[in-house]
Amino acid sequence: MLPNFRRCISCRKVASKEAFWRIVRVYPSGQLQLDLGMGRSAYLCPEQECLKAAQKKNRLGKALRARVPQEIYQTLWERLGAVSPGSAKSTTQETPAAGPGDLSPKQPDCR
Ligand SMILES: [Zn+2]
Repeated sequence: MLPNFRRCISCRKVASKEAFWRIVRVYPSGQLQLDLGMGRSAYLCPEQECLKAAQKKNRLGKALRARVPQEIYQTLWERLGAVSPGSAKSTTQETPAAGPGDLSPKQPDCR
């Protein structure tokens, strides 16, 4: 296996690390964050199935040996353009997950 290859914690697929989301337990604070930071890392395919499994079976938490905050999953679901299954009845914010395919043109930057 090439050194830059990583394994998805859910489906165990192997690919170059650029193909995955990286979730990092930052050292020494123990905070979890995405993409950046030094510390223990877990990799996950940017796919619903893998995210779902990681969340439902706590694969992410086990891989990182940390409690994964809901916001982490939330952010990842938003990246997929989906709504987290765990937050079905959350209060609706003014912008529902503005993704790359967002169609609302009426938000001028009034700063
Ligand atoms: Zn996967």
